[in-house]
Amino acid sequence: MAHVRVIENGLVVTMDDENSILEKGYVVINDDRISEMGSGECEIDADESINASGCVVMPGLVTAHTHLYGILLRGATLDIEPPSDFAQVLQRVWWPLDEKLTLGDAYASGLSASADLLKNGSTFLADTYSGPNSIEGSLDRIADATNRLGIRALLAFEMTERHTEEEASRGLEENIRFAGECDSCQNLASLMVSIHASFTVSDELIEQSAAKAEQLGVPLTIHTSEGAVDLYHNLEQYGERTVERLHRLGALGENTVLAHCVHVNDEELNLIAKTDSRVAHNPMSNNLNAVGTAPVPEMLSRGIKVGLGNDGWIFDPFENMRCAYTIHKLSHRNPSIISPLQVVRMATIDGARCYNLESEIGSLEAGKAADIVVIDGGRAPTPLTSESVIGHIVNTFSGRDVRDTMVNGEPVVRNGRLTRMDESEVVKASREAARDLWSRMSG
Ligand SMILES: [Zn+2]
Repeated sequence: MAHVRVIENGLVVTMDDENSILEKGYVVINDDRISEMGSGECEIDADESINASGCVVMPGLVTAHTHLYGILLRGATLDIEPPSDFAQVLQRVWWPLDEKLTLGDAYASGLSASADLLKNGSTFLADTYSGPNSIEGSLDRIADATNRLGIRALLAFEMTERHTEEEASRGLEENIRFAGECDSCQNLASLMVSIHASFTVSDELIEQSAAKAEQLGVPLTIHTSEGAVDLYHNLEQYGERTVERLHRLGALGENTVLAHCVHVNDEELNLIAKTDSRVAHNPMSNNLNAVGTAPVPEMLSRGIKVGLGNDGWIFDPFENMRCAYTIHKLSHRNPSIISPLQVVRMATIDGARCYNLESEIGSLEAGKAADIVVIDGGRAPTPLTSESVIGHIVNTFSGRDVRDTMVNGEPVVRNGRLTRMDESEVVKASREAARDLWSRMSG
């Protein structure tokens, strides 16, 4: 017998093709799937009824690009010369951190970042892990964490050749090994193939990675012209811009997610559109690293599929939406350049489209996986109606307003608390890992 849950009396934001909104809406969940939706009284005889009166019910938010281990750097004061550009941010902060990471750090950060995401309304993450001294087994440890808390995850080891070619091939092996194990286990984690960025890898590795991703039938992701260093490297070494080089090497296409795309010109945008490659936009991280603003309105006008990522920094998707909503207005000096609805679509259905998962997640529709968020509307200072709700999602709510989060029909957050694990245990694991990591970094 199927277990039937009903969420009722909510303002249901579906994010379907018509952006339908159901007042006094209900969502019927049969085990892990949405079986029916509507407005008014729900006649179904359910095992459990969840009252969403005064609440917004929406699809789980999609985190289209992240590095879960980034959470371990929160609040750290590093004894380094302050970086003056993006290359130095990598050289002085992230690469030394990567080298010190252990498998225990991968697990502990996987727990605390997943907990944050779930409690803040995100039900899906696409993570790439980069630890040159903790390669083998890293994806299992991260999957242990994401599966334990119940978040849907696409995981990858991020390949680079900044030290040796051998380190990249070990990274590729880890991805292939994990792909084989994913096939045989019934859980929420699966694999993608990840390359760090075109300025740290050879042509051969890019070609090999693209071929392997295609052979395994999984997405390929690569940081693409996040900082100008990537563009200049490719211009100097190959006489090509970054997206042109990726195109020559067969790395573009509908299974490719290009992270950032800050320093891309019109021709590169046309190539991305023509090949139906996808873009993960990380506005808050771009601000933090002072790399520039990605030409997202220009991507959307070309029909490029753009999702929202946090790049391992702020794990509250509402803050990220707010940043995406404002940064393009500022950079274009045009307050109408992007709408709240475009932003909410990037955080939901368009993020799912990045990974060709739009028939499974990203909107609330019968037949789809029941990845659902219930937001307490109590803090809205103005009427919360079908006309105002998209505006409230972008302008009013934050992760702290998320009451319930459901993945595959299972409530993994209820009343703002994790259901599968004691939260103090998550924080303890993460604090201990971070304390040890910080001391290794300063040692
Ligand atoms: Zn990234």
